[in-house]
Amino acid sequence: MERFIRKSLGLKAHTVVKVEELPEGGLVAHVDRLPHRALPCGVCGQATRHVAATRRPARRWRDLACRDQPLWLAYAPHRVHCPTCGLRVERIPWAEPWQRVTQALGRAVATLARALPWATVAAHFQVNWKTVAAVVEGAVLWGLAHRQWQPLHLLGIDEVSRRKGQQYLTLVYDLERGRVVWVGKDREEATLDRFFAWLGYRRKRAIRVVCCDMWAAYLAAVRQHVPKATVVFDRFHLSQHLGRAVDDVRRQTWRQMAGRERAEFKRTRFLWLKNPANLTRTERTRLSALCRLNTPIVKAYLLKEDLRRFWDYRSTAWAAGHLKQWLWRASHSRLEPFKKLAAMLRTHREGVLAWTRIRVTNGALEGMNNKVKVISHRAFGFRTTWTYMANIYHCCAKLPLP
Ligand SMILES: [Zn+2]
Repeated sequence: MERFIRKSLGLKAHTVVKVEELPEGGLVAHVDRLPHRALPCGVCGQATRHVAATRRPARRWRDLACRDQPLWLAYAPHRVHCPTCGLRVERIPWAEPWQRVTQALGRAVATLARALPWATVAAHFQVNWKTVAAVVEGAVLWGLAHRQWQPLHLLGIDEVSRRKGQQYLTLVYDLERGRVVWVGKDREEATLDRFFAWLGYRRKRAIRVVCCDMWAAYLAAVRQHVPKATVVFDRFHLSQHLGRAVDDVRRQTWRQMAGRERAEFKRTRFLWLKNPANLTRTERTRLSALCRLNTPIVKAYLLKEDLRRFWDYRSTAWAAGHLKQWLWRASHSRLEPFKKLAAMLRTHREGVLAWTRIRVTNGALEGMNNKVKVISHRAFGFRTTWTYMANIYHCCAKLPLP
């Protein structure tokens, strides 16, 4: 047992003295230093033989389980007289400073935490939830410092909300490689200012395309920092705006209805928003029955379906023609939500039409988007925003592991 643990930890200046079985289950491997071997300084790593007489109190580190027995390492770290730093605690070879688990366990926890909720990971390794959080946060800090930079050409900007919209985070994607590059608090212009400041002047110049929502704060920052980049409005977000407009009309209509009509109209939200090609036969019958009521919702529905055709155009001129016609119809539809939407699209016409030339969308990262949402749903216990951000980095940024 002793030799197995010593070899698997790759100890050079230390050895396992004995392995003790705990009455409540589990094993403790007692480690001590080998006499006359040099110990590295905890600050600079320089090895020295000048070891102080007093030791730090004994500590325990959790290691990977031995079969199904939990395993701890027990050791009282020495103090060394480092020629550069003075009296310091030695560097522990099996764990990061202040970490309460060994590197081997940390690596296993971090790998599993990419795919599973933290509570599950904690249960699997029989460790505290906080330990998992500390390991992931440490791994993210390490990964951010050691990731290899690749030039950023296609930038995607999106937001996620936490605690039912009380707190926002801005995510910056590398659309080429499908990963998160940066996460920042809030969704203000200042948020992106911070991102571009972090990116630096030279890296900024490589950006060709920015894909984002029609959110004024983001646009202002993008125009200021990367004026030469083409802005493409995200198709995914535009569909969301459209869906919201249809839903607003549906709600208004429903409020004005009474009696049998109202009952018939109940629970039809998804019918109006669904792609007609995906409707089942019963749903289609129901929808055509509803259309006979000839309410404003039908008008809204047709407008929504008509704009869908816009995405198929390859020629900018044809697309511009279609959009112009649609905008005219929308602003003369006497539907307030559509008038508003038309006004918004009209001011951002360039960015909407850019889609015909550059077909990028954050929707391509929908898998990623869902992942981020799942992370925010299991946000129980993410007391700090940093923990939440660390988890987003951990799952979506493809960072290297320590
Ligand atoms: Zn030192």
